[in-house]
Amino acid sequence: MIRIGPAGFGGSPIENIEHIAELGFTAAEVEFTYGVRMKKEDAKRLGELNKKHRLMLSIHAPYYINLASKEKEKIEASKKRILDSCQRGSLMGAKYVVFHAGFYMGRDQEEVFQIIKQEIISIKDKIKKNNWNIKLAPETTGKASQFGDIDELIRMKKETGCHICIDFAHIKARNQGDIDYDDIMKKLKPLGHIHAHFSGIEWTSKGERRHLITPEKDIKELLSYLLKYKIDATIINESPDSVEDCLKTLRILQDIRMKLIQ
Ligand SMILES: [Zn+2]
Repeated sequence: MIRIGPAGFGGSPIENIEHIAELGFTAAEVEFTYGVRMKKEDAKRLGELNKKHRLMLSIHAPYYINLASKEKEKIEASKKRILDSCQRGSLMGAKYVVFHAGFYMGRDQEEVFQIIKQEIISIKDKIKKNNWNIKLAPETTGKASQFGDIDELIRMKKETGCHICIDFAHIKARNQGDIDYDDIMKKLKPLGHIHAHFSGIEWTSKGERRHLITPEKDIKELLSYLLKYKIDATIINESPDSVEDCLKTLRILQDIRMKLIQ
């Protein structure tokens, strides 16, 4: 199954969830990107409202996260932001907390992998102790200076049991526009359900610069490969106009399916 939904609700999630569901979306990501400000009661209320709509909810944790910081306090603050997101997420019945795990800061990949791995294991322990029903999903990142290429994340999933978020636009930006969908889908196929991000993207030699409106041909390309490999996925659109781009995605998905049965 392919689920489609926007990043953010175009305003208050509680006020807009009905509208988001009415548009035909089957997922939505709650944006805590600039801080976990949602009250616990509101998280619960969102979960109550969603019993009717049954959207697959996920959370984007704040951007200010670096689980591989060289300063202990910054690691602790990062963990707190992820844990606060997990708590709200568990109250609303969200399935994943997505985050950009950290930066290499001149160290080698293996060293940073091990640091982040230990922190993910420690956060998972706290989730378990609190009986929260939610999965961590570190995301493929858009810059070579950031931890999180697809192979690192798949290895992290295997070694810690965390989930992952595949941002196809980030993979493209990280590789200067090169994206080998056959190779990626072969890697993703054995992993079960894939939580994904998508949008148009602008990049420089350092990688991601900013998210853009999603070109129709890019949406077609991604959907065709997901269908070709029969990947069960949720696609959260992160473009500057994510609701409009999700509508486009729904329409294109329908067109492709119509052509497949003709
Ligand atoms: Zn993303």
